[in-house]
Amino acid sequence: MRTDDRRRQILAEIKALGPVLPGSLVERSTRCQRTGCHCHANPPQLHGPYATWMHQERGRQVTKTLTHEQAERLRPLIAADRRLRELIRELEDLTVKELNAKDEPVPKGGKKTRLTRE
Ligand SMILES: [Zn+2]
Repeated sequence: MRTDDRRRQILAEIKALGPVLPGSLVERSTRCQRTGCHCHANPPQLHGPYATWMHQERGRQVTKTLTHEQAERLRPLIAADRRLRELIRELEDLTVKELNAKDEPVPKGGKKTRLTRE
């Protein structure tokens, strides 16, 4: 496929992505503040697990506990964000490849990094 065609395809896919949410969903079990609660017993019986959304905000880890419904609603948005990042990387790689092909051909027998992703 020609680079321009692939580039157009990537941009069309990005356009169709819809809302994206960074971070990840994880199941976490927690301890509460109440003394004498079973979560402080030995062995502890923790609360949860709860669905939690974790992401970085200005270099700070942010954690938010979600209801099951919220987690299910946000899961596809997080998947869309993953895909968006993949597509951006591929878009960048296309240009890098193009530039390398024009100006600095990879020496024969040299170690090549495979840039395309299927
Ligand atoms: Zn507790």
